[in-house]
Amino acid sequence: MSLFSSKGQKHIDGHKELTKHEEIISLVSGNNAPKKVYFPTMAPNGKPITFDVKEGDKVKVGTKIGLRSDFYVPIYSSVSGKVVANENVFSPQVGRAIPHVVIENDGKYDEEKPLKTVTLKDSAEKIRDAIKEAGLVGMGGAGFPTYIKYNGSSEIETLLVNGIECEPYLTTDFIVMQQRVDELLLGCEYLMKASGAKEAIIAIKVHKDEVKEAVLAKLADHPNIRLVETKDAYPMGWERVLIRNIFHKEYKTLPSEVKVAVNNATTVIELGRTLSTGKTVATRLVTVSGNGIVNPHNVLIPVGTLSNELIKVCGGVVEGDINFIPGGPMCSKAVSFDTFPMLMQMGSITVLKYCQATADACLRCGKCTAHCPAYLQPVALKEAAEKRDVEGMKKYDILSCIECGMCSYICPSKIDVTETIKKGKAIVKLSMPKK
Ligand code: SF4
Ligand code: SF4
Repeated sequence: MSLFSSKGQKHIDGHKELTKHEEIISLVSGNNAPKKVYFPTMAPNGKPITFDVKEGDKVKVGTKIGLRSDFYVPIYSSVSGKVVANENVFSPQVGRAIPHVVIENDGKYDEEKPLKTVTLKDSAEKIRDAIKEAGLVGMGGAGFPTYIKYNGSSEIETLLVNGIECEPYLTTDFIVMQQRVDELLLGCEYLMKASGAKEAIIAIKVHKDEVKEAVLAKLADHPNIRLVETKDAYPMGWERVLIRNIFHKEYKTLPSEVKVAVNNATTVIELGRTLSTGKTVATRLVTVSGNGIVNPHNVLIPVGTLSNELIKVCGGVVEGDINFIPGGPMCSKAVSFDTFPMLMQMGSITVLKYCQATADACLRCGKCTAHCPAYLQPVALKEAAEKRDVEGMKKYDILSCIECGMCSYICPSKIDVTETIKKGKAIVKLSMPKK
């Protein structure tokens, strides 16, 4: 076996059993519904979001309240009620407290007039326009505006629906893919029409038998959609690794170079719902799990609910020092706050007991290189980053690191290689001329 055969092929403990069969807790109505929801005034890239509402304005579920300034992404309210304030709250995406528009939830969930719906008989252009107006962003964590992948500029042959969910603890895709198969398949049909793709592949990992059964039971009416199972390995959900495994193809920058468009499964489901009903995304399922939470569960929330409300309904945290991770433990960074708004793209809060790991010296074992799915040399990148050696980091192609966390996970010396590389990436980006 080649030394490099393990790239992107490492099985890691998923801990999915903590939540996958637990009943969903709903915060959408009842006593536990959030009194307020929060919308950041900055996009994840730091660009401003312009809000059209001011203190005292009344809104409904689906009222357009703002617009991103970089890409056309409308922001819609997730509750009905009143705009009450502009408050500084920690934003995990931006990395500091920033102003948020706050809406007081009246608990009635009155709905705005829906957006214009489209059907599969409509033109590709009309469907693409509807995707753009829906304000959808990647709900697998990336938050990238969905319509940009379907702007009609690339030839797409296959739509790849990413239901891998390879980060430990996360089970939201696993649940919604079982519960909302019709919307999943409808979303596939819309995206095939929008992109010109001839087929759609829904990719899941092996052992997701419940999802497999639910999807296969409805595929007969969709001859151009098929289900594919992959190995249970990390980071299989990274689109480059997924395409490598399914199509045996590599690309340089974007999957469209190999005529593939990739979307996360929950995004496709919400797209199917939004385009057919005109109702924008107002709720999402969030996994709250880890060894630091008393009762791990999946929680259904209005978008913009604060994370501490989810932690509270899951029984709070266990005793001792705790790390809060807005996302999965492999790719996301722990933060020192338990209070941040859960946006459309945020599907998990991982709560872990803090454990002090003392790093030993590098053994030059090469494990990090052998397992890097991006074919990088993490140890060389780490050393260049420690020296702030910009040319060295560029030479070893630091910007191709996807921050998957595998090099830290695999390191026998417990060196947080990924974190050092992340800092190095920031230094390299700062050194580059502004566009
Ligand atoms: S974090 Fe970056 S360098 Fe480390 S294994 Fe993942 S892609 Fe490779
Ligand atoms: S895995 Fe850790 S010990 Fe081994 S070469 Fe990489 S950084 Fe060094």
